[in-house]
Amino acid sequence: MTKERLYLFDTTLRDGAQTHGVDFTLADKLAIAGMLDDLGIDYVEGGYPGANPTDTELFGTKRKFKCTFTAFGMTRRPGRSASNDPGLAGLLAAHADAICFVAKASEYQVRVALETTPEENIASIRDSVKAAKDKGREVMLDCEHFFDGYKANPKFALACAKAAYDEGARWVVLCDTNGGTLPHEVEKIVGEVVKVIPGDHVGIHAHNDTEQAVANSFAAVRAGARQIQGTLNGLGERCGNANLVSIIPTLKLKSEFADMFEIGVSSEQLKKLVHVSHALDERLNRPANRYSPYVGENAFATKAGIHASAMAKDTATYEHVTPDLVGNKRKVLVSEQAGKSNVMAELERIGIKADKDDPRIGRLLEIIKERETIGYAYETADASFELLARRTLGTVPNYFDVTQFDVNVEQRDNAVGERVTVTMAVVKVKVGDEHMISAAEGNGPVNALDLALRKDLGKYQKYIEGLSLTDFRVRILNGGTEAVTRVLIESEDESGNHWTTIGVSPNIIDASFQALMDSIVYKLVRSGAPA
Ligand SMILES: [Zn+2]
Repeated sequence: MTKERLYLFDTTLRDGAQTHGVDFTLADKLAIAGMLDDLGIDYVEGGYPGANPTDTELFGTKRKFKCTFTAFGMTRRPGRSASNDPGLAGLLAAHADAICFVAKASEYQVRVALETTPEENIASIRDSVKAAKDKGREVMLDCEHFFDGYKANPKFALACAKAAYDEGARWVVLCDTNGGTLPHEVEKIVGEVVKVIPGDHVGIHAHNDTEQAVANSFAAVRAGARQIQGTLNGLGERCGNANLVSIIPTLKLKSEFADMFEIGVSSEQLKKLVHVSHALDERLNRPANRYSPYVGENAFATKAGIHASAMAKDTATYEHVTPDLVGNKRKVLVSEQAGKSNVMAELERIGIKADKDDPRIGRLLEIIKERETIGYAYETADASFELLARRTLGTVPNYFDVTQFDVNVEQRDNAVGERVTVTMAVVKVKVGDEHMISAAEGNGPVNALDLALRKDLGKYQKYIEGLSLTDFRVRILNGGTEAVTRVLIESEDESGNHWTTIGVSPNIIDASFQALMDSIVYKLVRSGAPA
């Protein structure tokens, strides 16, 4: 049986750019478009030329992509002719392979928001699609508010969609703009639409306001739609758009879809998924969601001892797909419930060879349990776990000693009478026989300590040059006077490796210091620095 082609349309750079706190530069847009192109996405919507300088510049030059690079814009304004609409003219002049128009498909929206007539709305769709077709572009229409519009007035919603299709639009995309439609409704309505417009010309654009954008996309495909619009990591206004990072592996790996459909993403490309997802978060300067299906750090992590020992027999016992198919890794969490098998599995994963009857393994397990009772959480702090294991097994050199540190926070009036807080850290380090002293000012005690600590490590300095802290999280455990502070620090090196370290103490500076030290020592171990 030949499989039917299903098309993927990414709108991270357009609808995703509506996310609160997201502001893409031109360089961001080009890098993300390149990544989507490498992943095998069919359509990449770059933005809205004419709406802002970045998007105008993006479409000012012909871009070399394998995908169909798409510009987004409005249909001609009511009461204007297509040839006399500057917005439309800009869109038609853009260097894009395809144009995705947006028009309202809800009679209520046309009346209330656009303040025009249903007839004029449909005429605007026809004229705009025709103008873009005449320019030789592939054309599609995003039917805004389609599902809500259809529920109130199916005839009008369908007439809008049909007008675009009849005028030669390659795709008519049904949008759940407010994101409130449920999967069974989507399936039913798309089923009605494909009686009028062939399903291989129908797309779905779902928003995640009921946490069902992905389910709604699949419901539309089941009913006959053949294009799915979505974004990387579900970026988008309010609660986001349909998450392509969840949709793609489901299409590739679940037989209901995989047996029926072909998509542009090959099995090889699928292995890049974790990288693509994390690279986007890095660009947005935010930590990746470790609970994301398929790509999250915890997506294939097992905690309980019984599960871990079953996994050791056959990984299929607790996995719905194999993690490497999407470029992810299996992880057995070390936790309070951990048995020896967990620790052994974790050691194997990080490449430490050990014999389970080695008494040091029992000792390691005991240390972990002791530490977890006072607040350590090694399941997040993989690097600190590795160091603890290597230390217990006796394989971490003592690179340097911090003999003393001092952090001073001072609030005072400066020379011009402004109130300022000044933080200064001084660190004394002994490397071999050398004694060193470094001082640094920071925007806070942890920052100052970090800067001073990494300023001069003598012969080890070259190994930590590319080290930087990417995230710092503090949690106060069991509040009150007995409160303990847990600090998690995420670090990165010049080759893009990430690791997390932990520190726990009643004193936040001590906790931070432990996590900072672990991060540096981990980097030295990883770099193979000599003792
Ligand atoms: Zn949208």
